[in-house]
Amino acid sequence: MTYSLNWDLDSLFSGGIHSAQLKTKFTQLKTDTASLGDLLDRWDAASDAPDFPQFRKLITQLQAIEAGIGQAGLFITAVGSADIQNPDVAPMEARLQTLSTQVKTVSDKLEKVLVQVPDKTFTAMLAQPDLQPIAFNLTEMRDEGKELLDDKTENLINQLNLDGKSAWSSHYDSLVATVSVPFHDASGNPVTLSAGQADNNLLGNADPTYRAHLLPAWEKAWTDKEQLFADTLNHLAGFRLTEYKAHGIDDFLQEPLKQNRMSAQTLKTIWRVVDDNKQFLLDYLDRKAALLGKKHAGWQDVEAPLNLPGSQEHHFTFDEAAAFIIKHYGEFSPKMAALAQHAFEHRWIEAEDRAGKAPGGWMESAPETDESRIFMTFTGSPNDVSTLAHELGHAFHSSVIGDLPFLRQGYAMNVAETASTFGELIVADANVKAATSDAEKISLINAKMDNPVAMFLNIRARFLFETRFYQLRQKKLVTPAELNELMLNAQKEAFGHDLSTYSPHLWASKLHFYIDEPAFYNFPYVFGYLFSLGIYAKAQQTGNFEDQYIALLRDTANMSTEDLAQKHLGVDLTQPDFWLNGVALIKRDVAEFMRLTDPLVKSANGR
Ligand SMILES: [Zn+2]
Repeated sequence: MTYSLNWDLDSLFSGGIHSAQLKTKFTQLKTDTASLGDLLDRWDAASDAPDFPQFRKLITQLQAIEAGIGQAGLFITAVGSADIQNPDVAPMEARLQTLSTQVKTVSDKLEKVLVQVPDKTFTAMLAQPDLQPIAFNLTEMRDEGKELLDDKTENLINQLNLDGKSAWSSHYDSLVATVSVPFHDASGNPVTLSAGQADNNLLGNADPTYRAHLLPAWEKAWTDKEQLFADTLNHLAGFRLTEYKAHGIDDFLQEPLKQNRMSAQTLKTIWRVVDDNKQFLLDYLDRKAALLGKKHAGWQDVEAPLNLPGSQEHHFTFDEAAAFIIKHYGEFSPKMAALAQHAFEHRWIEAEDRAGKAPGGWMESAPETDESRIFMTFTGSPNDVSTLAHELGHAFHSSVIGDLPFLRQGYAMNVAETASTFGELIVADANVKAATSDAEKISLINAKMDNPVAMFLNIRARFLFETRFYQLRQKKLVTPAELNELMLNAQKEAFGHDLSTYSPHLWASKLHFYIDEPAFYNFPYVFGYLFSLGIYAKAQQTGNFEDQYIALLRDTANMSTEDLAQKHLGVDLTQPDFWLNGVALIKRDVAEFMRLTDPLVKSANGR
């Protein structure tokens, strides 16, 4: 079988960014949003009772508009990712954002209208057969409405946001584009690296000396512009805190937790499990340092590849990768395998390795056509195969909820990473099993450790930093020197003071601190990863796990995460036990890594 390395976007909107079909879509969405607003203005719960035909129409229309925005948004993002130089993408993104703001104004209003509906009437509405499946989501909207201010003020905040929080967030991208890192290439010739290139080399270059030299150059590049980044971060956070305050919210974690439908207790338990169980990862980092001929690993070594003699990496063609994923998905779930095959056959994936593409990988769903699109750059490494399996896991999640009402598809970020991590784990383990030498096995387990090291140590540091930064920002503007100190201390604490070098400017170099929506773009990753590991552990113990797994995924936007885990896995997320099952799987990998590398370190010491 030969699969295309390029995706098909024409089946979504034909003709690229200037697509006439897309223009029509925009016009349609604008008209529909206006008419939705009118419908809402005229709506009266009492006279709509007992069958609520007007409200049902309203909710259907709102979901159709949001699905349409999702469809257009995916297309615009896709065109932009595949061609970063395309100057016509940004104006279209801005148009879409203006439209989204208009929809948000209407849906904010709807939330407030729901607050005015008496409890008894609201219960009667939820009992309607077509509203029953979205009862949880409507209740959530009504609760949300209780926090909202008057229409005029909410509208003003939404409008100001376009030049406020959301503007600071895009300003960050403009700033990063100006960062360059003067350095030298492998042969010692002077070169200028972009922030993205430098980041890739700092973490991924196979030569430890190159990485060690790059780190100070990298830090200097951010130091030169630290005041600009500090301004951006302070104002973005300041806007957010003022917005919270206006809504009577003092605790800056309240909204992020609510968006992820999880309790503060669950988060506390996760961090406790992480902090109590990180020693084996620090041991792993020490071992990795020893293999690199060092006593302690530096910041730049944490995610680095290990190129041991004889660890010839297996190289996959795209078709081989597809076959590998389909085969190993199939061992867990024939339905996952079928979806992956469908995605390859129907050209949902952009994987070509060429210039002009955005870095990274993502999956977005096309809600109107019940499809997905996956973006990545495939170079043939086992890591790329895992990434592809990760994104296909996301696509599988979307596919099993595609028939549900659009509101029921709005799963939060923490559970969003469940299916993806699950898909990735299956394929990463299969990669390790397929290794033909110990050296190859060591290098694959090492690559697999990127995730737990990121979750337990790096993201832990980012969370500690962000929490302390917001505490300070509530009182004052935070200076670059203070930001550096907060970050350095957070990294030392999270990494158990075990590293020889750190990256105090991570607060400037890490995009995640500058994302306007959602806030605290860190702990949901850790939740998702550990949640998925727990499910993976369960899947290995339980035969015929497929139906149970799909039932869980279908409920991901239908209840709190605590209820989700209780209902489908019979576990209590506020207690450590479930999370520890996942930790046990990582410990198993580290133990294998230690066993395999023991002789290498011993022989090095003996010499
Ligand atoms: Zn993901």
